[in-house]
Amino acid sequence: MTSANPLPVSFEFFPPKTPEGVAKLRTVRQALYARRPQFCSVTYGAGGSTQQGTFGAVAEILAEGVDAASHFSCIGATRESVRAQLAELRAMGVRRLVALRGDLPSGYGAGGAFQYASDLVAFIRAETGDAFHIEVAAYPEVHPQARSPEADFAAFAAKARAGADGAITQYFYNADAFFRFRDECQRQGLDLPIVPGIMPITSSTQLMRFSDACGAEIPRWIRLRLQAFGDDTAAIKAFGLDVVAGLCERLRAGGAPALHFYTMNQSAATLALCDRLGL
Ligand code: FAD
Repeated sequence: MTSANPLPVSFEFFPPKTPEGVAKLRTVRQALYARRPQFCSVTYGAGGSTQQGTFGAVAEILAEGVDAASHFSCIGATRESVRAQLAELRAMGVRRLVALRGDLPSGYGAGGAFQYASDLVAFIRAETGDAFHIEVAAYPEVHPQARSPEADFAAFAAKARAGADGAITQYFYNADAFFRFRDECQRQGLDLPIVPGIMPITSSTQLMRFSDACGAEIPRWIRLRLQAFGDDTAAIKAFGLDVVAGLCERLRAGGAPALHFYTMNQSAATLALCDRLGL
């Protein structure tokens, strides 16, 4: 059963590394634009991607008439390099950022002008005022490097108070973690919208690999069911669609303000979810 009110959606992509990948992503985007996304975002620096790749994809999305958010990570950056990139993004007509610390390369110690994403948000606000709508990352299941859940929440609150307009969560399959996080924000007077990040389930091994790295918990019953499907990708996709659509329905019923889909540069699984949800 789907509810009457469609939720706003947004779609996340990563910058392709090959000309074939660039061409394929154009087709994927066109298929997803039919769902009238609020914006599409492009990751930055993850998996060895370059600034050029991110900015290039962002420019294409804007040229296609869709609002685009550039992810912006600050690991190892200087004030000057961030200032220059912000100026370039403004000149391109970008009005949305997802401001992040970024993942630490192994062996990376302290360095760069920005230690945490909250430092970056404060800097962007100080430099550019309200020129950008700034989203930050939120971790309902706690960031894997956090000292404690309380310290992680305090770090999130610092990003909100530094001037974030909204937050997008790491993906999760446990709706209660999201609701608890959202309720804690309200209790602490943080009134920015917290948008759940939704990862479609299409492959067992890929999901396990990502989730171990980013600290997203795969509930035991999902893990065991996925393992039992073995190589039966059709069964995995059908099960994944049921599970993730059910999660989205719970989030919608519980008042999630929008849904942000981690598309992995594929349209089929996200479109199937949107169909199931009437989005
Ligand atoms: P922060 O908010 O700075 O937090 C990082 C860690 O430091 C946390 O453990 C936090 O608890 C701790 N911390 C923060 N402030 C303090 C403080 N003052 N004192 C002590 N501890 C503190 N990565 C990419 O490389 N490119 C991307 O495009 C990208 N996009 C993402 C989009 C979303 C929606 C999400 C959820 C994640 C994304 N990531 C991306 C991953 C992200 O960069 C990593 O999770 C990274 O490890 C943390 O980034 P952050 O901005 O959340 O960092």
